[in-house]
Amino acid sequence: MLPRTRARSRSPGPRRSDHPGPPRPGAPPVALDVTGLSHDGEGVARLDGLVVFVPGAMPGDRVAARLVEVRKEYARAELLEITSPSLDRVQSPCTVAEDCGGCSLQAMRYEAQLAWKTRAVRDAIDRIGGLKGALVHPCLGALHPHHYRNKVQFPVALVGGRPVAGCFRKGTHEVVSTESCDIQHGTNDLIVRESLRLIDVLSLTVYDERRGGGLIKHIMGRVAPGTGESMAVIVTSTKKFTRGGEFAKGLMDAVPGLAGVVQNVNPEETNIILGRETRVIAGRGYIDDLFGNDRIGRLRFRISPLSFYQINAEQAAVLYGKAIEYAALRPVDTGLDVYSGIGTITLFLSKACRGAYGIEEVGAAVRDARQNARLNHIQNAEFALGRAERLLPRMAAEGRVKPSVVVLDPPRKGCEPEVLHAIVRMRPERIVYVSCYPATLARDLAILSQSNYRVVAVQPVDMFPQTSHVECCSLLTRAS
Ligand code: SAH
Repeated sequence: MLPRTRARSRSPGPRRSDHPGPPRPGAPPVALDVTGLSHDGEGVARLDGLVVFVPGAMPGDRVAARLVEVRKEYARAELLEITSPSLDRVQSPCTVAEDCGGCSLQAMRYEAQLAWKTRAVRDAIDRIGGLKGALVHPCLGALHPHHYRNKVQFPVALVGGRPVAGCFRKGTHEVVSTESCDIQHGTNDLIVRESLRLIDVLSLTVYDERRGGGLIKHIMGRVAPGTGESMAVIVTSTKKFTRGGEFAKGLMDAVPGLAGVVQNVNPEETNIILGRETRVIAGRGYIDDLFGNDRIGRLRFRISPLSFYQINAEQAAVLYGKAIEYAALRPVDTGLDVYSGIGTITLFLSKACRGAYGIEEVGAAVRDARQNARLNHIQNAEFALGRAERLLPRMAAEGRVKPSVVVLDPPRKGCEPEVLHAIVRMRPERIVYVSCYPATLARDLAILSQSNYRVVAVQPVDMFPQTSHVECCSLLTRAS
């Protein structure tokens, strides 16, 4: 028996029930055999035919649980005790695993995590995409499934009068104090710890989400694993940061390799962490990384605070390796990289073909991308600033750029239909679709496969070990 180390006392309590008969919330604990996992990593069991979600449980577990919500289609239960653990269960090294909820698979053997990710992608492609014949390869696992994250982004709060930082407790805005995070790069832990110490020592005020007021909102740290450089971004509610200079100096002294400290001003009360305005308060406002592996080669990338950069360098190189392989560019070809960020994929593509174009909506990222082309002495890459759904239809209509290969790497919500239609109009031989969200990938692959493209293969890559997130690289070829 594995008793839970602490009973979860924050369950929302029984809710309105519209289930026709028993089970009912608030009833005595029930025994459940967990047989599956939901797309976000919650255990799934059945009780009298009703699907029950049990956060913290995994397939193979027999658990005692209490129903906290019962609806017609499903129920949710709070895990009380694991009466018979799954053979895939391992001891997680994380000290805040119970409270944080950020890594929903961390108690699962790594090989089982990979098998689950492969299945999750397969399911999405079958059920959402309706693409039963598409080949889904087994998920490519990471050599280093811990301490891989090169970026930390924690909210700051006052707990018992002291500043703390960490993820929000699942489903709440309560900060779980996280001294060290099992998936973070050690330098990021250090940036967070030292920032908290300085907030305390300098008596800086901490932003209060409910009442408003207070200065410090978030701490962000970024490491370039290839060069060892790092940067800290401190997000404040106002531009005025009276002791900012002292804070920045303290941090530069305490964190070896810290290239700069940047203040980001975000006066808005939203879930978006970063505001538009950044100001360098010590050192410089960017870091340089040396990124790649023996297979794809290495390029130098400059990263500024507001630009996107893949958070797991080792696995990003594996992912890009697949994208380059699927792109199969010849020297006469032209590549188009949509959602290009700081130009990472674009620049790798440009080395294999006549020329490559990138499209990206964040101005700072496009500036980084152009700078990155120069840093690597690449002259056959061009970047356009704007929304893909606005720029691509125009490009397709003009017909000036005729890409043989289009790479797509959109955010979670996937591509706007205008983007997919414009690409179909450009008639590339191949489309390489990189995605961090299987559901929207499946939706978009289905659209493309109804428009003269055939899904050849989907390759899941484990970019986010211990979490339920999964990245994929897919190849489509033109049918006629
Ligand atoms: N391919 C890059 C970036 C992928 S992340 C890499 O591997 O590093 C997705 C990128 O798309 C982000 O840089 C984001 O700013 C950009 N983006 C999001 N929505 C967009 C849109 N509608 N049009 C163009 N770019 C967009």
